[in-house]
Amino acid sequence: MEKIKAFHQRGRRYFSQLRREVARSNLTMLRRVSFAFELFLVLYGAAAGAIFHSADLNWYYLLFAGINLPMVFFFFWYGRRSEPSYPVVQGLSILMVVAVLGFAICICLFPYPDRPSIFFPLAYMLVSVLFTMPLWQIALTLTAETGLYLALALRIKTPDALAYDVSGAVTTWLLGFFFLYWVNDLRLRDGEIRLELEHISRTDPLTGLLNRRAMEDNMVRGYRRCQKGGMSVAVVMLDIDDFKQFNDRFGHPAGDRCLMELGRVLNRFAEEQGVFVARYGGEEFIFSLPGSTGAEGVRAGEELLERIRQEELCAPDGVPITLSVGVAAEIPTGEGTFAALVERADAALYRAKARGKNCVAGE
Ligand code: GH3
Ligand code: MG
Ligand code: MG
Repeated sequence: MEKIKAFHQRGRRYFSQLRREVARSNLTMLRRVSFAFELFLVLYGAAAGAIFHSADLNWYYLLFAGINLPMVFFFFWYGRRSEPSYPVVQGLSILMVVAVLGFAICICLFPYPDRPSIFFPLAYMLVSVLFTMPLWQIALTLTAETGLYLALALRIKTPDALAYDVSGAVTTWLLGFFFLYWVNDLRLRDGEIRLELEHISRTDPLTGLLNRRAMEDNMVRGYRRCQKGGMSVAVVMLDIDDFKQFNDRFGHPAGDRCLMELGRVLNRFAEEQGVFVARYGGEEFIFSLPGSTGAEGVRAGEELLERIRQEELCAPDGVPITLSVGVAAEIPTGEGTFAALVERADAALYRAKARGKNCVAGE
């Protein structure tokens, strides 16, 4: 029971955190499956008509080719959108599974009531691995289709053929479920490793804040949003005062502890402000305030210094840790870049140091 719960929880985490990737990969699969299905229906339909001389069989191929064709066009059209919607893509994936299995059911049952089916188990195994869906969702879809298949088989098939069909369907369900569980587990593991790597590549290991790479991603995106919306954006750079001396006097491990402590304070402050804070370099930090003017940036810097005083961050000898802050802001124009704005905040930071440290300098 615990194991099932843990598996379910892993699945929930995977499907909530990797929504975008799942939607994109399923949409790619929808395009490929619908196209291959159409090709199969047309080519096999023509060949089956010539070989088996069954009008029924021809009709089924034709019917499903007609149903599938608009889906092929729709998926190709929908795939051109930059951001597919997760619920829409998941719904369409279920529809595709149902369509392929529906076709398998039709050609296995209706034209040949006196012969055992071989396509249904094959189609069942095949479509189950193509789409990335929570195990319960795909298992439910396949169980419903198997139920429908068996209900129809009981009415249509002759007793000889039925015995094969029932045992085939039950075995397929059991093997299929085991197979599905295994494939899902592999996908979850792969997703967990991906999330872990992404976290590591974006986080500063000492302070737990965003690192330089993540900062550039996040803040440049915020900068561009302001550029599009004609809004002001402020950048705030922070640097611990006399940190080299701190290290020289108390050692680097004590310096590291100080950075961790400061990281916690900065993180809480950034969360309250609804912004990201990143470790820019050694003892330098940065955050950006989309929608804020220079004056608002300076006020945020002063609030932060006040917070650090309240938190009483101290060196081992009881002397308070202080920081200097530089702020720059602009309404980004076509030529402006985030890097140039950071450079100006850095210049302001030097002015704060020159003014005697433990203060905020704007432009
Ligand atoms: P200022 O007030 O002008 O900023 O002086 P400062 O001493 O803080 O500046 P400086 O740039 O000379 O020194 C920065 C120091 O930060 C040097 C380095 O030992 C320390 N530092 C950088 N990264 C780390 C780290 O990860 N751990 C520790 N313990 N120290 C670090
Ligand atoms: Mg420095
Ligand atoms: Mg410093």
